[in-house]
Amino acid sequence: MPVVADADLKKAVTERFWVLTDPEMPAISLADLGVVHAVDVTDGAVRIELLPTFLGCPALDFIRDKVRRDIELLPGVEGVDVRYVYDRPWTTDDVTAEGRRALRNYGIAPPVAPGEPVPCPYCASTETERSSRFGPAPCRMVYYCNSCRQPFEAMKTL
Ligand SMILES: [Zn+2]
Repeated sequence: MPVVADADLKKAVTERFWVLTDPEMPAISLADLGVVHAVDVTDGAVRIELLPTFLGCPALDFIRDKVRRDIELLPGVEGVDVRYVYDRPWTTDDVTAEGRRALRNYGIAPPVAPGEPVPCPYCASTETERSSRFGPAPCRMVYYCNSCRQPFEAMKTL
């Protein structure tokens, strides 16, 4: 018998995803980002499936290693396997309402439907324009708000 029941361990692992973050977006947990596809625990062996957010995002390997190192520390864990799966594509619709709020508080405009204006995370104005095609990370773009005259970042919609 494992030291910690599999169901309890699964719960503990799942709860970690409300704390663990993407290093590119420390304001939002991986759970709120909607990237946790599956968690399975069998006799203390943890298998985690993540959806890759943005193909080629340099943080992907970092996130996988960070998750593995973190989960390994949970009591009762016998082993951790973290992998990206491509069963279905991650889309920005997977970001939770709380995740969108967290992004705005952090000054990042949450993703919008294609063609819709991107509201400024500071003043909510839609008088915004994209000022650069490339943001600081492949998943983000830089916008400029004509209302409060501040640049801000927006998450690329997928
Ligand atoms: Zn503004």
